[in-house]
Amino acid sequence: MICPVCKHDMLVVEYHNVELDYCNSCKGVWFDSGELELMLKSHGLEEAKLFLDGILNSAEAVSSEKKRDCPICRHKMKKTAIGEEPEVLIDMCHDEHGLWFDGGEVAQLMRHLSREHRPGHDAGEQVMSFLEEVFEAPERT
Ligand SMILES: [Zn+2]
Ligand SMILES: [Zn+2]
Repeated sequence: MICPVCKHDMLVVEYHNVELDYCNSCKGVWFDSGELELMLKSHGLEEAKLFLDGILNSAEAVSSEKKRDCPICRHKMKKTAIGEEPEVLIDMCHDEHGLWFDGGEVAQLMRHLSREHRPGHDAGEQVMSFLEEVFEAPERT
């Protein structure tokens, strides 16, 4: 797949049987929605699923940021804001092909999740540590 931002080929990063597409050039990440759901299910992350449904159903954010094309269907994706102060603007395909995070947005999302969720049992932390592992992984591939 081609990076929607800088048009470089993306690397496929596999983690626990889930494949992500990672751009080594701009550090952006594409989460295929099917893959993401599979990953959450296999980890029993119901809370995280609700979190994602919330993202999918949220309204389009007003932003000056350039619109990205979905790497699968090539249509423009919608901007969706997650959280507050600072909000994280992600790109999402209208046909639910997946989510795009610009380089740096994943780190913001991780910080957001760590504030939103209590430490201990919860799904947010598991997602967070999953993402941390994923983003330390690309150099190995
Ligand atoms: Zn890129
Ligand atoms: Zn699409």
